Amino acid sequence: MTPNREDYLKLILELGGDKEKVSNKKIVAGLSISGASVSEMINKLVKEGLVEHSPYQGVQLTPAGLEKASTLVRKHRLWEVFLVDHLGYSWNEVHDEAEVLEHVTSTQLEQKLDTYLNHPTFCPHGGMIPQEDQIVHEKDRQTLASYPEGTNIRIARVLDEKDLLDYLMDLGVKIHEEYTITNIAAYEGPITLQNDQKEVSISYKAASTIFVDSL
Ligand SMILES: [Zn+2]
Repeated sequence: MTPNREDYLKLILELGGDKEKVSNKKIVAGLSISGASVSEMINKLVKEGLVEHSPYQGVQLTPAGLEKASTLVRKHRLWEVFLVDHLGYSWNEVHDEAEVLEHVTSTQLEQKLDTYLNHPTFCPHGGMIPQEDQIVHEKDRQTLASYPEGTNIRIARVLDEKDLLDYLMDLGVKIHEEYTITNIAAYEGPITLQNDQKEVSISYKAASTIFVDSL
């Protein structure tokens, strides 16, 4: 599936682009597409006043971009909760379905869904669900890749990205789990996590998109 402008806005938001500049490199990694496609789309978003771009630093959402991204994220995440809690989907299966549903969800449907779900505040990936007309405000967190060996962490939020979620499913890593970082291989090599139940080795690329709380 070719990512559209909404996917970009949402990804920039998920990478912290509401508060700071997000590098093109991170966007390329998050969408698994070429740097040229990313540059092209960013130019369009700049022209539409949805993001600001600084050479060598990356992009940040404008207030208009943040508002647009927040509405999409809210619809997207409400559907994710519905799919997981009521239709038995697992967390790596919901992205594409929610992606389609969010674009055909009226304000009325969004409100009724929110009420039906009893106003959830987090999606299955740990992302915050903003109240109606509120903007997304994710808690400030570092990624797994930024902590030293020996740190105890809890997985708090992961990027809502199919390949990453499939990868974590294969590894058996879930949200809210707690681990100790036991080894960090050199040159952006894998990061090893361990707890009473298991030991897992997570690639540096994946670790850069997993947000954790240090314990
Ligand atoms: Zn989600």
